[in-house]
Amino acid sequence: MAKYKACIGLEMHCEISETNTKVFSSAANTYSDVPNSNIRPVDMAFPGTLPVVNKEAVRKSIMASLILGCKQPEYMYFERKNYYYPDLPKGYQITQETKPIPVGIYGKLTFDCNGEQKTVRINNLHLEEDAASADHTGSYSTIDYNRAGVPLLELVTEPDLRSAEEAVNFLETMRAIYQYAGISEADSKKGQIRCDVNVSIMDEDKDDTNLENYGTKIEIKNVNSFGGVRDAINYEIERQIELKEDGKYDEMEQQTRRWDEESGTTIYMRSKVDAIDYKYFVEPNIPKFRIDPAWVEKIKSEIPELPMERLEKYQEQFGLSAYDANILVKEKEVSDYFEECIKLGIDAKSASNWITTRILGHINKENLQMREIYITPAMLKDLIEMVSSNQISSKQAKDLFYKVLEDKKEPKVLAKELGMEQIASDEELRSIIVKILDANEENIKKYKEGRTNVLDYFVGQVMKETRGKANPALTSSILIEEIGKR
Ligand code: ADP
Ligand code: MG
Repeated sequence: MAKYKACIGLEMHCEISETNTKVFSSAANTYSDVPNSNIRPVDMAFPGTLPVVNKEAVRKSIMASLILGCKQPEYMYFERKNYYYPDLPKGYQITQETKPIPVGIYGKLTFDCNGEQKTVRINNLHLEEDAASADHTGSYSTIDYNRAGVPLLELVTEPDLRSAEEAVNFLETMRAIYQYAGISEADSKKGQIRCDVNVSIMDEDKDDTNLENYGTKIEIKNVNSFGGVRDAINYEIERQIELKEDGKYDEMEQQTRRWDEESGTTIYMRSKVDAIDYKYFVEPNIPKFRIDPAWVEKIKSEIPELPMERLEKYQEQFGLSAYDANILVKEKEVSDYFEECIKLGIDAKSASNWITTRILGHINKENLQMREIYITPAMLKDLIEMVSSNQISSKQAKDLFYKVLEDKKEPKVLAKELGMEQIASDEELRSIIVKILDANEENIKKYKEGRTNVLDYFVGQVMKETRGKANPALTSSILIEEIGKR
């Protein structure tokens, strides 16, 4: 790879959530497992039905546009992209071309990629409707129109990304922004994020600020997971390098391919030469409407705390490392959990340690969502306090943590049930220790003669007596004190 650099541009489609209704119809915009339950005649393109623009979808799109520093339109209108496919009953998709300004143009995003700051230019952001979903099984196909008309926000980057790693980090940052801003749940598992990936390569020493140096771009359609994006890019870079080394790169035509998860390869779909002419024209059923600058200002003031702000706060205010802070802000649910811990008064470093190691470790291993984990911030607080008040040792705390998740019982209750509580009461320990010392005159004498390792013997006796529940530090200090009195 050293001889070449990759140029990658992404088209990221993300469904907008929580708009009550779909982008142009009154059907509910909620995910449903029951096919064809969230549909209205307009989603089915019945004659005589008319689209009505959902204001909340426009508001959320403009918010995204503001966050990315894009220029917003004065007037908004929609266009028809004409093509036929069974999942598109109207025969066209209502979308926005980039002229003059859709919901935003020319922004940028700076994101972290393994400790390095990278910046990608955003070409544009536009609002459109999602298509239905078609499922092909054996000799028949089914179509679920629930997805038809769900608001979809498409973000198009310039080809500024240089590796699969950068592309995935960019997508993860965007996903976090969408989640924090309440624009989208951005859940890949629900198919809410889908990407088209554009890849070309150029010689390492060529100037990538000069468009003439760019190679022919290959578009990979509809990659629906970040892992898929990473693998598709890496595969495509290798494929193009091979073509280059074989002297065949220059004759390669601009084309659309698809990512085949099973074989881990990209497969040729069509050449750009026979690209579909979508015959765009202005959607006549939606009048052009004005975007009030005062409304844009209001939307700006409503932008919630974003991941980059929390990232800064965690480092500057809470003294966390950049590494830990990045892990915490990556997913909103994780960051919210951490914030809740802070609100409950848990020390930031301690909360961060528990979350980044044990909690996320458990979630990843069990393939859970943060919201599904049994242990709440309040329970974590109990657990941490049991250690700091010497009720249990930190080793016991780790065991207890997993036991809490397994048995789904509160740490305090479980610690009692398991007899895990340490004896950390001075009074209780002292009376046990005095009894042991009374019966061991010989050993006290030895200790006083300088054989300090006898102390270990006494600690051992106390542990035996309490079945390991005595707090070791407290035991030693009381022992020394009591021996000193004799
Ligand atoms: P199209 O008209 O085919 O949709 P665009 O110019 O709109 O092409 O670009 C679509 C996407 O392709 C953008 O994300 C852009 O960054 C990316 N892209 C454009 N040229 C290249 C290239 N030479 N190499 C890689 N990606 C590219
Ligand atoms: Mg395109």
